[in-house]
Amino acid sequence: MVSVSEPWYVHEPLLELKNVFAGYGQIEVLHGVDLRIGAGQAVALLGANGAGKTSVLRVATGLLEPTSGCVHIAGRHVNGVATDELARLGICTVPEGRGIFPNLTVADNLRMGTYSGISLEEIEQSAYERFPKLAARRNQQAGTMSGGEQQMLSLARALATRPVLLLVDELSMGLAPIIVDQLFEEVARIVNEGTSVLIIEQFARKALQVATWGIVLNNGVVEAQGSPDELNQALDVAYLGKR
Ligand code: ATP
Repeated sequence: MVSVSEPWYVHEPLLELKNVFAGYGQIEVLHGVDLRIGAGQAVALLGANGAGKTSVLRVATGLLEPTSGCVHIAGRHVNGVATDELARLGICTVPEGRGIFPNLTVADNLRMGTYSGISLEEIEQSAYERFPKLAARRNQQAGTMSGGEQQMLSLARALATRPVLLLVDELSMGLAPIIVDQLFEEVARIVNEGTSVLIIEQFARKALQVATWGIVLNNGVVEAQGSPDELNQALDVAYLGKR
């Protein structure tokens, strides 16, 4: 696979992990991970089940403290800083499994975004503009919506806080390909609007369509990284033997 020592896109990274080791109890799952996301960039973090992708996200959002190494946000050392403090710095997650409240209505789920100081009216307006389907379901219990609609709600709620960096974990999980395409189109739009995004995906091709850089994690180490073109070519070789 492609291996590039110095990504081209960042001098002052928005998020930077430097030689991060982390784990759960005695079990170390990240063994010296380096990762950088620059302003306005979309980085795809790829890898098989159990490679450590979600653990990287937990480190970046303060849910998992590194045992060694550094986490920097816009140059600030944030090891051990609480998740809500990082959220105030503009780091926001669309978690694996969506993280919405199934028994609450769509509007009440969006209300959760008002902690950031933005009014519900404003949040609803931008959510329904982005995802018109949600407007028709404003008073519907979120858990009764389709998986794709729930993912739209999760994205809309995250965007309500106007994050500078959005971390999206397994957007495609359990969804039909056509819905996944629509959601990734939305991610591309979010990137075009200037929000930086970390896209965690098992389905590499999909994520590389919207990413500006890709990183492949394997067993808790960065195995390869490169431009989407480079990584797509590497996938062709790995899966199809094409050169
Ligand atoms: P997936 O796509 O399956 O979510 P992933 O690449 O996101 O995989 P992680 O969820 O970060 O990988 O898991 C990395 C390793 O850490 C795995 O071996 C997993 O079993 C282990 N792990 C994850 N969460 C915990 C936990 N809470 N306690 C103990 N081990 C954990």
